[in-house]
Amino acid sequence: MTDLQPSAEAEMVERFLDAAARGDLSRVSAMLSHVPSLINQTGTGGWTALMFGARNGHYDVVKELLTRGSDRFSVNASSQTAYDISKFWGHGHVSKLLGQTDAPKENYFGRETLDRLSMKRTDKEWLDAKETATETVYLLFSKLNPMVSSSREQEAGQTDIKLCRFGYDAVKFLLQKPSTVLIFLGVEKKDPSSQTEGALWEPPAWFAVGTDEDADDLLEGCGGEKRFFPRSAHRDLLRLSEEEAGVVAQARSVLAWHSRYSFCSTCGSRTGLEEGGYKRSCVSAECPSRQGVHNTCYPRVDPVVIMLVIHPDGEQCLLGRKKMFPSGMFSCLAGFVEPGETMEEAVRRETQEESGVKVDLVQYVSCQPWPMPSSLMIGCIAVAVTTDIKVDKNEIEEARWFSRQQVMDSLLRGSHQVLTVPPRQTIAHQLIKHWIGMNANL
Ligand code: ZN
Ligand code: MG
Repeated sequence: MTDLQPSAEAEMVERFLDAAARGDLSRVSAMLSHVPSLINQTGTGGWTALMFGARNGHYDVVKELLTRGSDRFSVNASSQTAYDISKFWGHGHVSKLLGQTDAPKENYFGRETLDRLSMKRTDKEWLDAKETATETVYLLFSKLNPMVSSSREQEAGQTDIKLCRFGYDAVKFLLQKPSTVLIFLGVEKKDPSSQTEGALWEPPAWFAVGTDEDADDLLEGCGGEKRFFPRSAHRDLLRLSEEEAGVVAQARSVLAWHSRYSFCSTCGSRTGLEEGGYKRSCVSAECPSRQGVHNTCYPRVDPVVIMLVIHPDGEQCLLGRKKMFPSGMFSCLAGFVEPGETMEEAVRRETQEESGVKVDLVQYVSCQPWPMPSSLMIGCIAVAVTTDIKVDKNEIEEARWFSRQQVMDSLLRGSHQVLTVPPRQTIAHQLIKHWIGMNANL
């Protein structure tokens, strides 16, 4: 649609959304055949054609849109998917269609965008060739945060951000410095529909370049007008697309490991980077860590349990707030799994330590990599057997039972909000939605 005037493009999107809202299947199909890129376009309030079809219960239109690749997981300005909308308006046959998905439960930071190709990490020759290949993509990280650029302004005033992608020539000067860390992230996944270029074609490789050099200097060297390094990882890295968030989760955790593990934890000697950035080996020949396999040589992942604790009456859930939370925000309780502990025991222990509430049944829901710096958030629903709250003030400021209605009001951002919950990119938000019965597959 690049050859159209902006107003003409907007008008076409309007007509497309209108056709979906009216259930005009032949018009929807005709427009998509003519302009396939209409499929996930949004109108006022971030509504897609799929959401309009779902709102009015147009089964055939929803089916057609799904077949043509409409994104069932996209959300409108009220954080609702097409599934949520169809369920809310009581179109059971449509919500059944939208709820059918083979996709595993996926959380933000969890998408596996690249093929990691881990067997190539020991193939020095192959990696060297990829480093200088013209199609190779480099991402630049300064003090663990990626260089990004602003894309479009959203209605809520929030700006989406995109990763800046560089070629070998742009980052060559950094790769020559001994303090720079280079990580092989993987190759782009092959699109089965575009296998026309023969067996010799290989998808582009992606690397992350990590440096502690000053962001301002780097921006001067290779930054464009709107490029910048996020100042707050916790806030800004939630503004990436799902695809790019998945890449950042991998790159940032590995880079964070390199930044903290320059010395051998067994003998204190220096360590050197190996295997495409996935191993650090001790330089001392006598070091015991050079015999056998040791977890000190590989990037670490820290398991954290995060749980939504349900009241024995089934109608309330337990949420807590830390002092550093924005005012009014409550979230799920969470804590690190300890050595020799099962996930279920960690949930029971952490809940009791932080809130005084005893928990019995624990059920796993889904998990989320959280690259600040390298947690794996293991999301669970747990059922309480006691209800008295006694908060550990060192960990949290307050914990309360909230009713289903209070939680629903906060998710729908109604006018009677007694609490706010963390944003949709967090697994806490998804656990809460899961309990309310809304679509957890966001
Ligand atoms: Zn050592
Ligand atoms: Mg704790």
